[in-house]
Amino acid sequence: MNTRAMYSDNLHDGEVEDTEYESLITSATIMLVDDEPINTDVLQTYLEGEGYTNFIATCESTKALDIMRQQKPDVVLLDLMMPDISGFDILIAMRRDKRLQHIPVVILTSSDDAETKLKALKLGAMDFLAKPVDASELALRLRNTLAAKAYQHQLVNYDQLTGLPKLDAFLDTAAATAATLKENNTNGAALHIYVENLKNINSSLGRDIGNKLLQEFSRKLEQCIRSTDAIRSAFVADARTSIARTGGDKFSIFLGPLDSPQTAAVLARRIIIDTSDPLILEGHQIFTNVKIGIAIYPDDAADTVELIHNAETAMTYARQHGGGEGYAFYSGEMNAESRQILAMETGLRSAIQRDELKVTYQPKVDLQSGKIIGAEALIRWISGDLGFVGPDKFIPIAERTGLIVPIGEWILEQACTQAAEWRSAFAFDFRLAVNVSIKQLHDSDMVSTVQRILDRSQLPAQSLTLELTEGMVMENAESNIELLHQLKSLGIKLSIDDFGTGYSSLSYLQRFPLDELKIDRSFIEEVKSEEIRTPIVRAMVSLAHDLGMTVVAEGIETDIQLNHMKTLQCELFQGYLCSKPVIAKAFSELLMKDYPRQSAA
Ligand code: C2E
Ligand code: CA
Ligand code: CA
Repeated sequence: MNTRAMYSDNLHDGEVEDTEYESLITSATIMLVDDEPINTDVLQTYLEGEGYTNFIATCESTKALDIMRQQKPDVVLLDLMMPDISGFDILIAMRRDKRLQHIPVVILTSSDDAETKLKALKLGAMDFLAKPVDASELALRLRNTLAAKAYQHQLVNYDQLTGLPKLDAFLDTAAATAATLKENNTNGAALHIYVENLKNINSSLGRDIGNKLLQEFSRKLEQCIRSTDAIRSAFVADARTSIARTGGDKFSIFLGPLDSPQTAAVLARRIIIDTSDPLILEGHQIFTNVKIGIAIYPDDAADTVELIHNAETAMTYARQHGGGEGYAFYSGEMNAESRQILAMETGLRSAIQRDELKVTYQPKVDLQSGKIIGAEALIRWISGDLGFVGPDKFIPIAERTGLIVPIGEWILEQACTQAAEWRSAFAFDFRLAVNVSIKQLHDSDMVSTVQRILDRSQLPAQSLTLELTEGMVMENAESNIELLHQLKSLGIKLSIDDFGTGYSSLSYLQRFPLDELKIDRSFIEEVKSEEIRTPIVRAMVSLAHDLGMTVVAEGIETDIQLNHMKTLQCELFQGYLCSKPVIAKAFSELLMKDYPRQSAA
């Protein structure tokens, strides 16, 4: 076994322990190249006396390079004076070969000539040994060379913070393990683990705490693997696991052979449970959120790079389809889905410029008079490549990529300009509602953007309502209160959308500066006959009224629903009963029916 494999299996703890370090050095594979067999024999005997066990010896300089390529020694002891091909020629060839470049070489030379030594050094030799070789000198030089190599290897391949292998080293060991699995016709699994809230922790509590969290997290990961190893080894004796930090907030595990794919799920669950205990770091109580994707070898991919990629796709799926258990197995459909998402992401980036986004308007109607009092702006995307894409599909993508900020600004500008036009054309107090997403709310320019658009469109501030979903307002409730007050100070109104679907704390609700509450469509759907009673809706309406808010019923499709909400004293409604969302031109026609005199003017 060479040092590389040794490292990946044993040195997870960052620090190289003395005994481990010792065995690392003595397990190195040493190649001896000398045209005289007696010399290689003597060297090998000396080194065996020092505890080394792995040797490749050759007296044929012409074959030396091929042997190196095949057997990848950890160090080469190279004679300079050989017939056919000299030690210099071998050195030159090694430095030109990517696979051999990094193997350290110790030169054996009887020459005391400084120029020869200098030449060898320039060609990248690490050290010299004078012939005839002195045993203790040999041991010392070799040890230094191997130690330097081990140190360099550690820097290149291991993450300094956690001591875990980095991506390249991980891919190497995973590929080696996969090859063994394939030979034996057994299965393995790749797990991709994402620490969801690391970025937040870094930005709110500082990188030092983030780093400590990562160290603690990687320690826990290893514990989980060890204890799950114990479970698995009941079935499979020769299981191997490698674990790595493959990105700032990403870790990967490859393990096999597996008795069953379920063992990977056992490990995933264990990681989720064991890492969910809060950590106390510098007086802060910190919760870690992880999401895990699992891909099975060779079913999900025969190539380990693709397998690990698929595990990541499964992780993304686990994130997007929240709830659940926090982990997901990869499936072919996810690939199709992730391709679709990627296509949407790409398409969305140019949707504004390509004029593919349209604003539609759904009437907001006064329940008592039946008259339209305004509209909610709802975005539509008709993509040249993907056809019609519904907002429930692309808004989450726009939010994740941050594209919602320019898109949201665009729709606000379009809708405000249109609303100002309707106000003057139909001469009434037209009210416009526009949806905003959490990303926009947290955008530092939000307040000034809204102000600028109001100024430009000449829409009075009190005619504009921004709709925020309940879930979005309640998450990080404390910090949102301040943001909402800043928006309110512009003179606009705020509405809480999809009410009843989240877990609002009622005591919080009154701390938000809200003007309107929209009862989610799912509650209205329940109203199917005249007799139906809806105590929850009744309670929501009276709560809203107590807090001084206007109530809007969403998704009214039938007269029964309409009358029911009327008896509950709800003020406004939206729904297909009046109209689906329509483009501006069609909306003008709806307005013309309700405001005929003004439109004639
Ligand atoms: P929402 O804000 O709750 O919008 C109401 C949704 O209910 C709209 O779906 C509307 O077409 C639909 N709807 C209205 N009346 C009825 C009805 O009687 N029956 C049924 N079955 N449905 C009705 P839409 O337009 O597909 O929008 C879906 C969601 O996408 C919106 O939910 C909103 O959360 C988001 N969205 C739409 N436009 C924007 C936007 O410009 N910005 C942001 N941030 N989100 C938007
Ligand atoms: Ca809405
Ligand atoms: Ca809604």
